[in-house]
Amino acid sequence: MKKKIFQSIAITSIVLVAISYFLCTFIIYNDLTSATKKTLQEETLSLSSYYNENPSDFLNTKFYSESRITLISTDGTVLLDSRYNPKTLENHAHRPEIETAIKNGSGDTSRYSDTLNESTYYYAVLLNDGNILRLSTTSETLISALGSSLLPIIAIFTIVIIISLIIAKILTKKIVDPINHLNIDVPLANKTYPELQPLLENMNYHNKIRREFSANVSHELKTPLTSISGYAEIMANNLQGDNTQEFSQKIVDESKHLFRIIDDIIKLSKLDEGNVQLDFETIDYQEVIQNVLRNLETYANQANVFLVDESVSVKGLAVRQIIYEVIYNLVQNAVKYNYPNGHVWVSVKDINNYIEITIKDDGIGVSEKDKDRIFERFYRSDKSHNKQIEGTGLGLAIVKHGVDFHKGTIEVTNHLNHGTKFTIKFNK
Ligand code: ADP
Repeated sequence: MKKKIFQSIAITSIVLVAISYFLCTFIIYNDLTSATKKTLQEETLSLSSYYNENPSDFLNTKFYSESRITLISTDGTVLLDSRYNPKTLENHAHRPEIETAIKNGSGDTSRYSDTLNESTYYYAVLLNDGNILRLSTTSETLISALGSSLLPIIAIFTIVIIISLIIAKILTKKIVDPINHLNIDVPLANKTYPELQPLLENMNYHNKIRREFSANVSHELKTPLTSISGYAEIMANNLQGDNTQEFSQKIVDESKHLFRIIDDIIKLSKLDEGNVQLDFETIDYQEVIQNVLRNLETYANQANVFLVDESVSVKGLAVRQIIYEVIYNLVQNAVKYNYPNGHVWVSVKDINNYIEITIKDDGIGVSEKDKDRIFERFYRSDKSHNKQIEGTGLGLAIVKHGVDFHKGTIEVTNHLNHGTKFTIKFNK
């Protein structure tokens, strides 16, 4: 980031200096050229008045002008030239400035010499006796003007670059310092750029979730461990009386519960870290559903709940293991939170641009108040606590995570007034 800010400031200053240099040179050059033209025109006009008053005096005058003075007759013959011998000069009748002067009284033209990088400006006026007086002056072209000031410009460039690098360094440090010294533990206590506020709020939210999660994990692990150690202690002291069988079974059950919690935590943290086998492949959702239903058949039979497969073959790109986990948890819940003789309907449909999976049941349902919270980690509704239904409160958190991982959505609604319907949508 530091490097990027530094580079941007440095490049901007260099580009600005270059653009200003070209613009300034262009404007100054244009001003100078028009001033030169004007001076030459004025000089030509004053010399022409002098000529008109007394042509013979003019012919005998020695001129000390910087400009070249040429006197040309109407037929183009050069009568006088302040630089060259007129006899050596060719006929000037077809020079554009002469032609225009004969026609309009005055004419001008500019000619460029590529080899000398020079530009010559000619101004001609028609005299009273029909002759033509022409003055010309030579100056640098824009390119040679740019070239001739190159050395001082390189010097200015170097100074500007050094100054801009120093300023860039100071500015970069000023911009980056508050970010480097962010208090990550208490993000909202940082007084920094308003642009960072959403990031800090996000960090704060995640810190809160992490703290809650750690507190919940400790609590959830402690509960079964307390019972296990309680029963074990009674048995160690031989105080169990006739209850050995019952106490041992309690220890077995609580240990299993402990394992389930740890299993779920591992699954969640793997998903959190993206630490799952991320093999996206074309899967048939119907196959996954049938697999889940087969594996939960005994579980459903024990609960006296009917599993109804309403799926059709729908193919899509997904991570098989995660999709299996998502459907498994939802079907298992639909059996778990159901009544004897209840039903679970599972379907998958291909709807234009998305795939829709639904898991419906006619079980105990989810209250309006719980709907928003059941996807939270360790959240269990009062209903499930009261009915002493075995669970960790992590199943739906895993489901939500798996759906998010596939950039899908999950929604929970009522089904048949008392049951529950989970609808998952994956974009194709
Ligand atoms: P667990 O089932 O282990 O308690 P979950 O995260 O899977 O944890 O579910 C969270 C809570 O959501 C459950 O305790 C239960 O109250 C509620 N719930 C989930 N699925 C259903 C369902 N099909 N019918 C009614 N309640 C449900």
